[in-house]
Amino acid sequence: MSAHHNVVIVGGGTAGITVAARLRKKDRNLDIAIIEPSEYHYYQPIWTLVGAGEFKKEVSRRNTADYIPKGVTWVKDRVTSFSPEENSVLTADSGELSYDFMVVAPGIQIDWDKVKGLPNALGKDGVCSNYGYDNAEYTWEVLRNLKSGRAIFTQPNTPVKCGGAPQKIMYLTADHLRRKGHLKDVDIQFMSPGETVFGVEKFRLALLKVLDRYGITFNYRKNLVEIRASDKVAVFEVTDENGHMELEEESYDMIHVVPPQSAPDFVKNSALVDEEGWVDVDNGTLQHNRYPNIFSLGDVSGTTKAKTGAAVRKQAPIVTANLMNMIEQGKITNTKVYNGYSSCPLVTGYGKLILAEFDYDNNPDPSFPFDTAKERWSMYFLKTRILPILYWSGMLKGRA
Ligand code: FAD
Repeated sequence: MSAHHNVVIVGGGTAGITVAARLRKKDRNLDIAIIEPSEYHYYQPIWTLVGAGEFKKEVSRRNTADYIPKGVTWVKDRVTSFSPEENSVLTADSGELSYDFMVVAPGIQIDWDKVKGLPNALGKDGVCSNYGYDNAEYTWEVLRNLKSGRAIFTQPNTPVKCGGAPQKIMYLTADHLRRKGHLKDVDIQFMSPGETVFGVEKFRLALLKVLDRYGITFNYRKNLVEIRASDKVAVFEVTDENGHMELEEESYDMIHVVPPQSAPDFVKNSALVDEEGWVDVDNGTLQHNRYPNIFSLGDVSGTTKAKTGAAVRKQAPIVTANLMNMIEQGKITNTKVYNGYSSCPLVTGYGKLILAEFDYDNNPDPSFPFDTAKERWSMYFLKTRILPILYWSGMLKGRA
């Protein structure tokens, strides 16, 4: 027998909980179910600072049960497939659930195995990553013990959640080494698959100065494909300006890996996706381009922009308004449009942060009346002390 709900939300992470809380505020009679398998909810932006020794990992984790809005049904299960023509989803253990409307928000999948040797190498002998609750503390162990040699920081050639995170931990590492007097003894290299340090010119120029200050080498068009942990060697695909590709080996004493990422497999294998495998939504309304009773937001959505919690904060009110409009009128009559806002708090050292805020067209979209391309302690305080409170007590409660 299948259960039915007015609204089924797939994924109870940042996006799923925020939308559920907002929908409940709009209509207390709405029958909403969140399908979420995890016992815990994670505030992932803190993991960068866990890797830098500023926080213990436990501060990023709370019980999911405490954040499911009152009156919303929690189906503690995972979705295995979608049947959008039948308005239903299949779960691993709870059978089929049908819906009038659905919000798709299961986040992004970390594809560790897309880098040969990485799954076995991770967490020992200097191979670390802030991508994962159980991984980030090892970054701090590696960083603390680094006194000389070579430190490599990677970024994959796929979209990632928080495009700034690959660089942030590098700046924190450099600052830590500076404070301990070891900066001159460590060769720091960033391996980027792209051709620029940052997509928004104003912030690119600011970051070039930071790179220069720490003496970091920023390499372009280099994509990590293998780790040979026993030799402490990383293998990169290096592409030249003409598209010619060859393999290059780099030795390391420390390597911080940002793994390849993609939409979760059960999403990629469904009828919901665009050509690149992300949920096929309208960039503005976040309504599905083919199934009008489906919306999507967060990392899994095919909006062409950065995948961040900050983007979710702006997307959630848009999805809520347009979905309520659909529920009440049967179509969107009072369109609310997402402008592609995303923000990236680029930590450039302990107590230093550049706040990059921008829209779909890479135009700066500032929230503050001062120049946030300047490194500021106030913005570091905002990220480390204020935003976590706003997240747990505001955003997830449908308030901020
Ligand atoms: P998530 O919050 O990841 O939630 C997805 C949920 O879906 C999870 O709870 C998962 O259990 C669930 N799920 C998965 N599969 C299924 C399934 N089959 N069925 C049902 N549910 C499922 N953002 C910022 O704004 N600022 C930052 O400084 C920042 N720094 C970051 C640093 C790091 C190291 C990382 C990893 C992320 C960072 N982010 C940052 C990104 C931010 O955390 C994500 O963009 C945000 O959490 C996306 O929300 P989401 O709801 O789409 O995905």
